[in-house]
Amino acid sequence: MEECCICNSSKVKKILKINGFDVFKCAECGVLYTFPLPSDKELMSYYQGFLFDEPKLNKVKASVKKRIKELQKCFSLESSVKNKSLSFLDYGGGTGTAFAAAKELGLDSYYYDIDNESILFVKENFGLDDLEFIVDSSLKDKKFDYIWSDNVIEHVKNPIEFTNVLYSALESGGKLVIKTPQASNTETCFVFALSVMFYFKNALKENSFFDSLMAVTKHRFWHCEPPRHLYSFSKNSIAKIVKKCGIPDHQLQISDYYLPFFRYSIVDFLKFIKRPLVQIVLGLILSPFIILEFFLIVIRKLLSYAGLIKGTGLTITITK
Ligand SMILES: [Zn+2]
Repeated sequence: MEECCICNSSKVKKILKINGFDVFKCAECGVLYTFPLPSDKELMSYYQGFLFDEPKLNKVKASVKKRIKELQKCFSLESSVKNKSLSFLDYGGGTGTAFAAAKELGLDSYYYDIDNESILFVKENFGLDDLEFIVDSSLKDKKFDYIWSDNVIEHVKNPIEFTNVLYSALESGGKLVIKTPQASNTETCFVFALSVMFYFKNALKENSFFDSLMAVTKHRFWHCEPPRHLYSFSKNSIAKIVKKCGIPDHQLQISDYYLPFFRYSIVDFLKFIKRPLVQIVLGLILSPFIILEFFLIVIRKLLSYAGLIKGTGLTITITK
């Protein structure tokens, strides 16, 4: 790969191999990307139900409530927008919590996804009907007032085309919100379970100890995990994509989002243990680590409130 697929700079370097795919980093725009990209056939078979982690029904309601608040904040919505016939699209909606939240807010809500198991789940649990289900990914001849795409752009082969499709389907005066993990963010450095136990461990499988160490310390390669995540975007690379789509700079806003307090912590892990006795015993054994981890979380949170570390993800808002 001689030039960056986002900004066309020649300052690109292969940093490591993950799951048999080469991961590159662009020194100019900061994007991490997979080259060569997997074939459509490889991706299609990878996505059919493989990633779908069916949530417990009691958690679904809580997720929808959280989503309502998130959508209200991101789209500056009132608590109820009934009778205004504004449309909302959850693009790559997965479990459909945003689709359901928008419906509860009184929006004319639509849903698109490629995974059949996800689609079935949304039909069964959120009453998705044929009129609300968008079949065509190109969104041809469709217009929406609000478009929401949460952690999808990093999965697609062509993020420029993806942004173009969503922007073209946006009504004039509408708002598009795209969420995605942030390339080389510093927040993940504070999360031991991710930076060391997951990413560093994974890198060691196909790379030397030195290359793996550089990948987590210098490049902070998290979130570019082919064939799942084909990219990990920096703010600069998003600005380049938006420019290539012909969207004026003043219509774009990018902000960091940070992890919830206990996410990926030992306490979070203990919640998954079903037997209370095992949970208590393990909690007692791990208590010194829990205390240490708690301090690390407090430091992480203080640094994030002060804006001194880069957040795990980006919230990209594009108006029209
Ligand atoms: Zn670049």
